Amino acid sequence: MIANYGYKDGSGDFFISIDTDKCIACEDKPCLEACPIKILEKFADDYDDEVVGVKEEHRKKIKYSCAECKPASGERNLACQKVCQPGAIEHSW
Ligand code: SF4
Ligand code: SF4
Repeated sequence: MIANYGYKDGSGDFFISIDTDKCIACEDKPCLEACPIKILEKFADDYDDEVVGVKEEHRKKIKYSCAECKPASGERNLACQKVCQPGAIEHSW
């Protein structure tokens, strides 16, 4: 399942999408530690499989929460994507 976390406003769409089917088979879940401000969390889905999502408190401000990895100018360094070997994480902005 593709789970989308984020929001849209006048300045654009700000969503992180996670392919949770890929998380089930990902044993170490390195994205959890790689995120510098620990936006991501582990939880059990409806089938009791362990998957990853965005913490509730960051969903409505994800653009700002991820600003450290995505500066307005300069190089982007998306730690969560870098460590995700299965390529489960997409960012809309
Ligand atoms: S590293 Fe990728 S596949 Fe593994 S738990 Fe994190 S988002 Fe899911
Ligand atoms: S872009 Fe950076 S701050 Fe945002 S979820 Fe990924 S690692 Fe965490």
